[in-house]
Amino acid sequence: MRLSQMLFVTLREDPVEAELPSHKLLLRGCFIRRLSPGIYTYLPLLWRVLQKISAIIRQEMNAIGGQECLMPQLQPAEIWRESGRWEVYTQAEGIMFALTDRQGREQGLGPTHEEVITLLARDLIRSYRQLPQTLYQIQTKFRDEIRPRFGLMRGREFIMKDAYSFHASEESLRQTYQDMYRAYSRILRRCGLRFRVVDADAGAIGGPTAASQEFMVLASAGEDEILYTPDGSYAANVEKAVSLPPEAVESPYQSFQVLDTPGTETIEKLANFLKISPTLILKNILYQALYDNGMQVVVLLSIRADQEVNEVKLANHLSRLAERYQANKLLTLALVDAEMQTRWQGDPIPVGYIAPDLSDRCLGKTRKNLAPQILRLADQTAALMKNFVTGANEIGKHVAGVNWGEQYPLPEVVDVRKARAGDRSLLNPEQILETTRGIEIGHIFQLGLKFSRPLQATFTDEQGTEQPLWMGCYGIGVSRLAQAAVEQFHDANGIIWPVAIAPYHVVVVVPNVSDEQQMTVAEQLVQELTTAGIETLWDDRDERAGVKFKDADLIGIPYRITTGRSLKQGKVELTERATGQAIEIPVEAVVATLKERIEAALAVPD
Ligand code: ATP
Ligand code: MG
Repeated sequence: MRLSQMLFVTLREDPVEAELPSHKLLLRGCFIRRLSPGIYTYLPLLWRVLQKISAIIRQEMNAIGGQECLMPQLQPAEIWRESGRWEVYTQAEGIMFALTDRQGREQGLGPTHEEVITLLARDLIRSYRQLPQTLYQIQTKFRDEIRPRFGLMRGREFIMKDAYSFHASEESLRQTYQDMYRAYSRILRRCGLRFRVVDADAGAIGGPTAASQEFMVLASAGEDEILYTPDGSYAANVEKAVSLPPEAVESPYQSFQVLDTPGTETIEKLANFLKISPTLILKNILYQALYDNGMQVVVLLSIRADQEVNEVKLANHLSRLAERYQANKLLTLALVDAEMQTRWQGDPIPVGYIAPDLSDRCLGKTRKNLAPQILRLADQTAALMKNFVTGANEIGKHVAGVNWGEQYPLPEVVDVRKARAGDRSLLNPEQILETTRGIEIGHIFQLGLKFSRPLQATFTDEQGTEQPLWMGCYGIGVSRLAQAAVEQFHDANGIIWPVAIAPYHVVVVVPNVSDEQQMTVAEQLVQELTTAGIETLWDDRDERAGVKFKDADLIGIPYRITTGRSLKQGKVELTERATGQAIEIPVEAVVATLKERIEAALAVPD
């Protein structure tokens, strides 16, 4: 490809709209162009990158028996109602773009395809003889992200590979899950990326068959925090991570007493005032949960005050309690604020001095949509406390020397504490958790019967009994992966594409296009390289040599051939983008040398 004929406009300055280096470089190098927030054109250079990533994904999916297909993006509301996700996806999380067509039918733009594929399976899979099945597609997904940002990292329209598998047994699902695990690892290795696989499901801690794992490309600008042990025995997304908290100190309060503690409405003030460790203080936090049937539940969560609440874990727990409130799922979880309290018209809440037995009277008179009783939960750290200090339900007062079962009954115990770096590993307390940041590129998930049950996707087993299908789903963010590669591989001069996903392998730069010999040799080289299957870009623009070298570095083509002064001796310069190393080689050796280097770069250890 001749650069002089390409739509190629690079920017010298960093665009103001971008924060991340990868986002800046993709904009500057003419890879992407923004149309509106979170929505981008993939320009020819990036499209080649995306095609290469897709090709690698296809090969690895096909190798484990995946069948490629393409499902509709416009999806009728009914199928999302059937699975029970329409409300959550269009309202609570609001991630699905929804519209009404001219027949008055509601439609959504596919953020994911579990509904569509499960209905296909319901239609087409009858017998255990047809199982297992794995289908995948590479397609644009639509998600109305509340904060689209960082270019392709969090778009509202982006490319995803999503795969779904169906099985006659959990055992078969586990097998495909393991195949996917290996395929995903190979895909990322082949793309040249450094990554870590983390547990994304707290329920399966320690088990080798975690029900859900995320593939994280390591990068300091990653949105996700990963906690891991130095010995590699444990790694998890901080949202799901578990750990042992530091030990609490011994309490100086050996008997129950009421303390005057004026102006100590925060933990810090209280700890300073009493000169005690926050590990001796019980913190009581009020949340309001909203369920999908409109039911609101006030939650009083007690936790050791040196610890933080992991709201993802808390929301998961409350979701599991949905049935208790005749609901299917939790819609939102929020801290109780003054506005809510005003609405309840109940007894005033002694904010900053709340005790675990805060009266239900603060909820006001009985209302249809508000559970009449506070749901009281204690984090594990709270449950283990002895002779602790907590609020006295009265402004300016705390109680000390408190014990569960003496002053207050122990509420339902839950694990909703945020694990953090410095904590001890649950599996091996000798190991101290460390932290790093990553970009979630892939997610593999054993869904089990989650969709097949409500959507009644069944098969007949060997005994002739009808059974729900076991199901797994597996996603890779293709466009996010392209940018993650740039985030991992760049320097002050620009992008350094891994060879396997670079838009071109080689750029042939002619420093002076009015030099006939340079142009002739270059043209011939480009032809030979192309014939040899080496993807070659030819910078034949009438520009200064300096501009061309800068652009070649910016767009990150792995190898550069320069037809310069040494052409008189029949030589050209070969420069490697990653190392900056340059050597002179005879013109006749160019094809063979590059072929060898590219092949070596593409070989991946298993
Ligand atoms: P995240 O937590 O980052 O929002 P997710 O859990 O919603 O991701 P999945 O629904 O599992 O993601 O989607 C599969 C993959 O698609 C993700 O691992 C990620 O690589 C990619 N992805 C998800 N949302 C976006 C987005 N808004 N822009 C680009 N890629 C995305
Ligand atoms: Mg998301």
